[in-house]
Amino acid sequence: MTNVTNIKRRGMMLVLSSPSGAGKTTLAKRLLETDRNFTMSVSVTTRARRPSEVEGQDYLFITPAQFGEKVKRGELLEHATVFGHSYGTPRAPVDAALAQGHDILFDIDWQGTQQLKEKAREDVVSIFILPPSRGELERRLHSRAQDTAEIVRQRMAKANDELSHWAEYDYVVVNDDMAVADAKIAHIVEAERHKRARQTGLSEFVRTLMT
Ligand code: 5GP
Repeated sequence: MTNVTNIKRRGMMLVLSSPSGAGKTTLAKRLLETDRNFTMSVSVTTRARRPSEVEGQDYLFITPAQFGEKVKRGELLEHATVFGHSYGTPRAPVDAALAQGHDILFDIDWQGTQQLKEKAREDVVSIFILPPSRGELERRLHSRAQDTAEIVRQRMAKANDELSHWAEYDYVVVNDDMAVADAKIAHIVEAERHKRARQTGLSEFVRTLMT
């Protein structure tokens, strides 16, 4: 029987986007650590692995030919070219997680967010992360020593393009202090979980309250 602790709900697709260097990856990791109901959507990409990255955890690193096959077979929920490389979200793990009532976290760019919204508007909650200043964005990109100077330059140039899409998002969080930004994201998640449309077991529960 449905009771107040097991009201069925549909999982949400939480998207975090930002220009490179706004701290989005760190915020995503912290949310995964503190909120056990989230699983991360692991993207496929044709770019080279960074030294700190773990295959299958940060990305599935594949060849352009393998990527093309996945697109042809319809195995990607969305895909886009970012910094000259292909990135995409495998469809099967997302379908499985949502069906089980799990929430899924996506670290994808504005192109992917638009595609997810076209396919599953009701399930998508999107947050845009802004850096506190241009200077801080540059500083964070430079301090990520894993990228070459050329890559840092490309990413700075691309930041304007990514920033220009901020208004397409449901929520905007300025990442000045990581702990504060963390808490803001947790509040957004908590509120979104209470959306009536997401609580699919509500009518069954309410029936048990009525005589
Ligand atoms: P990075 O190479 O720094 O890991 O990621 C570069 C950009 O690609 C980031 O803005 C990241 O959010 C985005 N990205 C990562 N995976 C995907 C994906 O599967 N789809 C899309 N559309 N963007 C992605």
